[in-house]
Amino acid sequence: MVGVVVRLDELTRLRVSELAGVGPARTRALAALGVETIYDLVTYFPRRYVDRSREVPIGEAVPGEQVLLVGRVMDARRIPTRGGRVLVEAQLVDSSGKITLAFFGQPYRAKQLANITGEVAVFGRVELFRRRRQMNNPLVDPIGDKTGAIVPLYPLREAAGLNSSDIARAVAQVFNEYAEFVDVVPPSLRGHLGLYDIYQALWQLHFPTNEQTRQVARKSVAFDELFLLQVKLAQLRAEREARAVATEHDANPFVPGSARLLEEFLAHLPYEPTDGQRSAIAEIARDMASPRAMHRLLQGDVGSGKTLVSVVAMLIAVQSGHQAVLVAPTEVLAEQHHRSISTLVAEARLPDSVTGRLFEGSPRPVSIDLLTGSTPAARRRRLLADLRAGALDIVVGTHALFNDELAFASLGLVVVDEQHRFGVEQRSALTDRVTVDQGSAPDTLVMTATPIPRTAAMTVYGDLDVSVIEGLPPGRQRVETRWARTALEAQVAFTLLRDEVAVGRQGYVVCPVVDESTKLQVRAVTEEFERLQQAELKGLRLGLIHGKLSSAAKDEVMRDFRDRAIDVLVATTVIEVGVDVPNATVMIIEDADRFGIAQLHQLRGRVGRGADKSYCYLLSEVDTAVAEARLGALVASDDGFVLAEIDLELRGEGTVLGGRQAGRTDLKVASLSHDRDLVLEARQHARALIAQDRSLEHHPRLRAMLQALFGDDEADFLLRS
Ligand code: ADP
Ligand code: MG
Repeated sequence: MVGVVVRLDELTRLRVSELAGVGPARTRALAALGVETIYDLVTYFPRRYVDRSREVPIGEAVPGEQVLLVGRVMDARRIPTRGGRVLVEAQLVDSSGKITLAFFGQPYRAKQLANITGEVAVFGRVELFRRRRQMNNPLVDPIGDKTGAIVPLYPLREAAGLNSSDIARAVAQVFNEYAEFVDVVPPSLRGHLGLYDIYQALWQLHFPTNEQTRQVARKSVAFDELFLLQVKLAQLRAEREARAVATEHDANPFVPGSARLLEEFLAHLPYEPTDGQRSAIAEIARDMASPRAMHRLLQGDVGSGKTLVSVVAMLIAVQSGHQAVLVAPTEVLAEQHHRSISTLVAEARLPDSVTGRLFEGSPRPVSIDLLTGSTPAARRRRLLADLRAGALDIVVGTHALFNDELAFASLGLVVVDEQHRFGVEQRSALTDRVTVDQGSAPDTLVMTATPIPRTAAMTVYGDLDVSVIEGLPPGRQRVETRWARTALEAQVAFTLLRDEVAVGRQGYVVCPVVDESTKLQVRAVTEEFERLQQAELKGLRLGLIHGKLSSAAKDEVMRDFRDRAIDVLVATTVIEVGVDVPNATVMIIEDADRFGIAQLHQLRGRVGRGADKSYCYLLSEVDTAVAEARLGALVASDDGFVLAEIDLELRGEGTVLGGRQAGRTDLKVASLSHDRDLVLEARQHARALIAQDRSLEHHPRLRAMLQALFGDDEADFLLRS
């Protein structure tokens, strides 16, 4: 049994049942924890550790202090109480004394505690109850009979019937049977970053010698996870680039004479692009001019002017004789984009110097049209024919665009707005199909609604390049944000809204998602609308908008609001993204604690879009720690990038990665909020490696590991997400 060396990818194919000491019962128990292969087992990491050097003898535990106790459980039983609450009590005993453990409202504890064999670690505050020491609802971790200075505590599930020492023993057995795991991260990299090799890293993460070694081990394993993921992403990106050649657009927006349509367009703009917009445009233009297909994520805070940047990109395509499509997540937004882009490009003329199959009698205006689910059939047919014939330069639409009949004369650019609303198969659906049809890949520009943290962007959108619009257009005022915690403060908010309306401005009242079912949502917002009409907002002209209205009805309400025929729009989050009415200066968000940070920031971004001072009121009487942190963050900061980082820290990776990452691609150890530098390192090294060796010909072990971890399905999934 000495000196067996094994590759990590082999471990992903070896079942735990092949380990000595792991029989059928144990195999089943481990399977209940999702541990089936030996690789699963060595990457089933402890949730916590008990540092037994810090353990307090039970006899010496002092009331008022938080302590770690280790002992045996005796005498677990349910105690009947008045009022029907379940109380389970047990004694924790060691050689120095005993203490009562009390569990309220956890009936399952009686059985669980009675079944524990061996020692348990108990963590909690010591209280005095009827002059006896007691711990209420402490954390309890069965540790079994494992001795040693630092004992790993694994995440357990009741049903599995295992305790931490059972798992530790099985893990230790792996290290007994194999003397070495073949490392897939180049050793020079490990040395450079001061990391353990994978064998030592995994060993120390399960059985740390001390806190320092545990930290190095954690960092080493985290780097591995991130590196493997980034290599995969870099590879996907490189393969995609190698597969399809893109159009080389005629793109030089800021050099006079080289791009006449753009020149004219920029000359007619009512404002100057900001420095942030210019540099994002420059990056996009460089991509579009190259034969490499652009896959770029455009990040910018709410109101930073992403639309203008996307319009310039579309005009780059158009002046080069190609078409552009902009896909928005909702009809309201598609209509708004169509309107504002039409206005923006109204003065621009395609000069006769531009030759291409699109242009015959020039100069002529840019032709642009709108296609959504509610476009009448006849019109839709005509529009599709125009697209196919090249008679249409730009089409704006919703996912109704993703339709089999859709064909372009020459699609040069796909812009996807407000990405998070899309299932992203759709993003690739459009580009893939077009690539097949016309043989060259259109460029792709993806815009996020609110900023996402850089590390998350590199992970979730890891196959995309990222441009960030720094800063906001000049003259923007900070939206004054207040948290109204009482009915009285809420009253102040509505009074302010009335005052603003009285001087000709407008506002929004947003009602939360009360229930997942749309029907109930509609009822809730309708009731609130009627209530407001009788109470706080009596006498004002109110409009109601929610997701269930027909798009014609929505359109009408939005039009009335834009035309100031409506003072206050009562809405669900359909207005969350992108809606742009500069005369609106007050945003009141009811039950604000029910929204996430990004959503609140996005909603707040609906005001403060004009020159007037604007206000956002967050109504919530809830004062839990989470509400405090979230709403407090909104009040304290109006910087979407700062808020995104706070959000990541509050919510953890899971929600950021959402459904995008599942199974083996999950990050088990690495943290996108705490391992920022590691993410950067991993990405940089991964890209360098792939640049030299795209198919990993010279890194066969790394290739085998990626294949084992991601397979083909998973890779497809990553790319599409
Ligand atoms: P977002 O990035 O949130 O999508 P928009 O593209 O909707 O932002 O732009 C927000 C507002 O800022 C719009 O009303 C737009 O006309 C205006 N805007 C965009 N760029 C500039 C600029 N360079 N100077 C002044 N106003 C601008
Ligand atoms: Mg926008």
